Amino acid sequence: MYAGIQNFRELVTNNTYCVLRHVFKLRNTVYALAGILFWLGLILAPDTYAQESNPTYIIQIGDTWTALALRTMQPEADIRAAYGSINQQQQPTIGRIIDFPVSSSHIRHGRLTRPLRGGLLEIAAGDNISPWQLAASQDLQHPYRPVLMRPVIQPGSFPLREMPPGFEWLELAPASPTPGEALAIRGQTYSETAVNVQLNQTKWNTGRNGRAFVAIGATGAFFDDKQAELFMHIQDQPAWSQPILFAPGVWTFEEITYSGPAAAISDADILDERKWLREIWSEASPTPYWQSDFRIPLDDFVEISSLYGARRAYNNGPYDRYHEGVDFSAYGGTPVYAPADGYIAVAEFLKVRGGSVIIDHGLGVHTGTYHLSEVSTAPGQQVKKGELIGAVGTTGLSTGNHLHWDFLIGTVWINGRSWLENELGCWLLAGLKTPCASPTNNRSNPNSL
Ligand SMILES: [Zn+2]
Repeated sequence: MYAGIQNFRELVTNNTYCVLRHVFKLRNTVYALAGILFWLGLILAPDTYAQESNPTYIIQIGDTWTALALRTMQPEADIRAAYGSINQQQQPTIGRIIDFPVSSSHIRHGRLTRPLRGGLLEIAAGDNISPWQLAASQDLQHPYRPVLMRPVIQPGSFPLREMPPGFEWLELAPASPTPGEALAIRGQTYSETAVNVQLNQTKWNTGRNGRAFVAIGATGAFFDDKQAELFMHIQDQPAWSQPILFAPGVWTFEEITYSGPAAAISDADILDERKWLREIWSEASPTPYWQSDFRIPLDDFVEISSLYGARRAYNNGPYDRYHEGVDFSAYGGTPVYAPADGYIAVAEFLKVRGGSVIIDHGLGVHTGTYHLSEVSTAPGQQVKKGELIGAVGTTGLSTGNHLHWDFLIGTVWINGRSWLENELGCWLLAGLKTPCASPTNNRSNPNSL
């Protein structure tokens, strides 16, 4: 990015030089003016050039106004102006894009804290660094002045952010989420206490390993809160929150008409089955059972016939439902495999979902494969990624051979594609300081997600 900017600057300089040469060579000033206008046009017209000279930045978790100002060594007012902030009290929104020029040589790293008591001497002793070095990082002449609630930069390798009280560092994936995507946080706390994470009113599942912790959350495809609030809190520390922006999702629309035996399945059947399954999906172990990235549940399929989140109208009704999983159109009998390690929670023929296998992957993550012609596993059985669990069919509420693949965090259906694309399996294991067996997805099929 920065190399690109330098090249662009060279380009501008060279062009200016060419223009000046034109001016001196051509006696006719009209030609000279035309030349200048031509080059100015080339320089100013393309939008991409304009963006390169003014890089964009996506607001991350822990990016407060103070942290951004100290990190970029620019006045807070300039950053607020670039962001277009009106509300002085509200912190920058995670996922918002902000335009301000920052040179890579002028970025400060470290941790930003606001000590309630003590001063730089105490912090320096705790971090085992020189108090004079610490004072220099704050642009202070000496380490003896009390800092009180003033922000203090503790030197470190992290990009300078202001973490919730008690948290050493935090990362959120993806940086700019859309409704229906899996959301994940990883980080480290200063002590081994329980971490509470919630988005609006919904609590996230958390797991930890010593001071390292991860949290996963989900929003459904109908989530339309463009200014949601992310809360984080550990015991004996003040609550913390930061707004988070959801980019709008892009959805397809489908009209579905059921006939024959499928039409005989009632709404009550659908609700009953869902109610029972909700209890299974609510189970969350404190540790993940997976040991690698996830894969799609089959190798051979014709096409993806319906996407997650597709708005659906049934039997000429309104578009008031959405497709909860991904449909793979495939030949009957095609082998179906476990997407990751886990324990079999359901392996039976259900009224709506037909031949069904639901795997508990731990940490509140479940995947489901439905409409199977064969179920070749049993409840309670431990399965490994890639192990055969069944075969494609058209049982239950289905209009032809296909595999419906569900991906849930808690009781919320998410887009399995987002989990795979963001490689959250290994991303979360790394957050728990656990090795990941295969850091890449199985993408043998060119049509695969
Ligand atoms: Zn489906």
